[in-house]
Amino acid sequence: MKDRTLLMIPGPIEFEPEVLQALGAPTSSHVAPEFIEVFGQALERMRKVWLCPSGQPFVVAGSGMLALEMAVVNLIEPGDKALVLSTGVFGDRYADLLRRYRAEVKLLRAPLGETIPLQQVEEALAKHQYKLMTITHVDTSTGVRTDAKSLGAIASKYDTLTVLDGVCSVAGEELRQEEWGIDVALTASQKAIGVPPGLALLVASPRAIEAWRRRKTPVGNYYADWKNWLPIMSAYEARKASYFATPPVNLICALNVSLERILGEGMEARFARHQRFKRAFQEALRVLGLKQVPTDSRHAAATLTAPYYPSGITGSEFLPKVKAAGVTLAGGLHPDIKDRYFRIGHMGAETAGNLLATIGAIEAGLEKCGYQFELGAGVSAAQRILRS
Ligand SMILES: *Cc1c(COP(=O)(O)O)cnc(C)c1O
Repeated sequence: MKDRTLLMIPGPIEFEPEVLQALGAPTSSHVAPEFIEVFGQALERMRKVWLCPSGQPFVVAGSGMLALEMAVVNLIEPGDKALVLSTGVFGDRYADLLRRYRAEVKLLRAPLGETIPLQQVEEALAKHQYKLMTITHVDTSTGVRTDAKSLGAIASKYDTLTVLDGVCSVAGEELRQEEWGIDVALTASQKAIGVPPGLALLVASPRAIEAWRRRKTPVGNYYADWKNWLPIMSAYEARKASYFATPPVNLICALNVSLERILGEGMEARFARHQRFKRAFQEALRVLGLKQVPTDSRHAAATLTAPYYPSGITGSEFLPKVKAAGVTLAGGLHPDIKDRYFRIGHMGAETAGNLLATIGAIEAGLEKCGYQFELGAGVSAAQRILRS
């Protein structure tokens, strides 16, 4: 596959051959004993990856947006108050989504590249009783990572349910759902979970399930209603056949392989590796003289990096040159700065080799655009971090 470039965008990511093999295997019946076993295992493994031993996992065909919708539509009733913490495009979307289900939304929005001070969140929660609060763990439009642990602790104090959009974080950033008191943590298959697009993945706490059981009005979305899915998830985990809607058999087989590999690496090792990769990019960009969207590297994501182009260089000039050097990167997404920055995804089973190739291709692109720097400086800065 010589015409293939490395895909270093914030999802879909580079997938492992073992995962792709599972995807390409002959499709079994969704009620075949072998598949029931695979689905059951995948659900059990999700609890371990999310670090939520008493959580209820859900696996549903759809993208991350369905996971976002499923999380809140089961918990919100018309007129309920919801607090949305936004650090970019995906936080803003949550406000839109909640309003569609007639929640009364209060939106706290961080300035571009920053997080929302914890004190401001606490003041908002103290002022009104909110039924739930949404948090974007890593907003993929800004590369900002929020302090989900502290936010979970504050929300527990005020008896507010927490929904974490972990689409750009689960299985990459440190996340301890149960210990941190996060009620729903959700993602999509094509991000750090490492499976081609098509699965919405959620884990709900017992408190979230209880809140859903106590609702007075029906869930406003038939396909996303936990009433339809909870018996299915329970049946597969009990290794019994069940049917509400045909599960994407091959994707679930691929998910089970990827989860097994993630747990084989170990969650602690995986969190540490993503931190190391983050430092490698931070260091490489620093020596190359590129500024980043997050205003402080302490709240920059470990799953993606969002650098500004040097002045005088545009994305339409730079990105094709990086691609010609073998690596596909993503352009900007945040509407305020769309044409001024680019995004590098480095989550999942990435290797140090892929990282160095990416930095090398970025240097090649910069050089071809006439940027003045010491060729190789970024690669060796990253290498010093990666070998330590
Ligand atoms: C990618 C992403 C989404 C949307 O997921 P899709 O699979 O594209 O629907 C939502 N939130 C965050 C933080 C993301 O990175």
